[in-house]
Amino acid sequence: MAILQCDNLSFGYEGRALIRDLSFSVQAGDYLCVVGQNGSGKTTLMRTILGLQSPLSGRVILGDGLRQNEIGYLPQQTLIQRDFPASVEEIVRSGCQGRLGLRPFYSAAEKQRAREAMEKLSVSELARRCYRELSGGQQQRVLLARALCATEKLLLLDEPVAGLDPMATDEMYRLIEGLNQEGITLIMISHDLHYALGHASHILQIGRDWFFGSKADYLRSPTGRNFLRAGRGER
Ligand code: ADP
Repeated sequence: MAILQCDNLSFGYEGRALIRDLSFSVQAGDYLCVVGQNGSGKTTLMRTILGLQSPLSGRVILGDGLRQNEIGYLPQQTLIQRDFPASVEEIVRSGCQGRLGLRPFYSAAEKQRAREAMEKLSVSELARRCYRELSGGQQQRVLLARALCATEKLLLLDEPVAGLDPMATDEMYRLIEGLNQEGITLIMISHDLHYALGHASHILQIGRDWFFGSKADYLRSPTGRNFLRAGRGER
């Protein structure tokens, strides 16, 4: 069974659909890149998958025993969030909030989980530092560690390399690919179609005409060819 399946999903705001009747499925271990023009609804799709907003119609079905609060999410950062006055450790631990339920404090196991995530993302030595004093690349690694605290199975990443310099971008991609190789399923919004075509297993393009399929199918499809021809996949 697919870890995530969207069936005839329509989503948007105030009853107006951005995308209608979108259907696709993601298998455990896949690396799906979501591409499309700005404003096409990529972030809204992620919010709908996470249950932060209800679909206008259709269904999001989770498989593999996955629950909605066990999906890790790395949202796009706003300038205000970049200035958040908390320690790295506090931010990473907050990724366990979905597991807390009515408990007011993190358990020893959750604290350990946060330590392991920090180690995996090479931010352990920053644990006591204030988040807002970090570089953009360090901040994104901290947020990826936070997202990892929430999940062992599925990560949703919304433009995780936006605003990073080339070295920090490569480092972030390397870490993300490492998580996928360890078995975590990835859905990542990206503006870098060349990266997506080099590394993702599947492509979902949303917009007026949407496409879902393997990389090879995308390259053969009129949607993929038009998108590439229009130069929207340039780095
Ligand atoms: P993308 O991630 O592809 O850039 P978004 O999903 O962020 O696109 O936004 C899709 C469209 O929905 C945009 O036109 C945006 O202005 C609009 N939108 C985003 N958030 C809201 C909201 N809370 N209420 C109404 N419209 C919104």
